[in-house]
Amino acid sequence: MVSLTRRWFVTGGALVLAAAAADLEPAPAQTAPPSVGPADPRLVEDLVAANRILADQNVLDGYGHVSARHDRDPSRYLMSRSLAPELVTAGDVLEYDLDSNPVDARDRASYLERFIHGEIYKARPDVRAIVHNHSPSVIPFGVTGVPLRPLYHMSAFLWEGVPVFDIRQAAGGSSDMLVRTPALGRALAGTLGSRTAALMRGHGAVVVGPSLPQAVFRSVYLEMNARLQAQAMALGGPVTYLDPEEAKQAAGAVGSTVLRPWELWKKKALAK
Ligand code: MN
Repeated sequence: MVSLTRRWFVTGGALVLAAAAADLEPAPAQTAPPSVGPADPRLVEDLVAANRILADQNVLDGYGHVSARHDRDPSRYLMSRSLAPELVTAGDVLEYDLDSNPVDARDRASYLERFIHGEIYKARPDVRAIVHNHSPSVIPFGVTGVPLRPLYHMSAFLWEGVPVFDIRQAAGGSSDMLVRTPALGRALAGTLGSRTAALMRGHGAVVVGPSLPQAVFRSVYLEMNARLQAQAMALGGPVTYLDPEEAKQAAGAVGSTVLRPWELWKKKALAK
């Protein structure tokens, strides 16, 4: 349907555009925003690697997604079209605005839960990469009230605690469990607050970081910590966790070495 009627007149050599404003219709609910331009190819390569690594490390399976903030404009982010993470290539990466509208989707479908990413990027200027996963070992901690706590130095980044998002409260009752609206994404971002990870009851987790290697590292060790913590608790007796001061110091020390495993994981994952 034509929303704007344009009539062209040639008047004394000048072109004059006249628009019949009366024909204007309300804008569609979701308009594609203009692109801010191509992202740094190295960032796109890292985003592809992040998808493959997280599949390789059993953090993502056919589901889950990872995004990176656009290097040219913080009000945009990059994420694959709806696709199993292990299959993602550079050609699948789409640009989104922070309302999670794709810039140039054409016939390509987007992840239903993309609002997780857009709303966290809005709330957290420090965050440059986000992973949403259904990482199996963390699920019990989202449904039992047993808090996930840093058990060893590799997961010291959990020192601020790991809150649990209950979609029932955010949705005001039953839902299909998916963060499929901006309001649900905002509620999840609110539960996450300033922390590095949040669990989602009966669903999975969201993990954030200042870079793709950090978000990937944290996702891998969130899963590992959950597995080890369940094992430690099953042995019986009191479990000694890192105290907050130890965890804070260890988070800084270990956090500075993240590129070492990242290079290894990237090489292995991209060779497949
Ligand atoms: Mn999900």
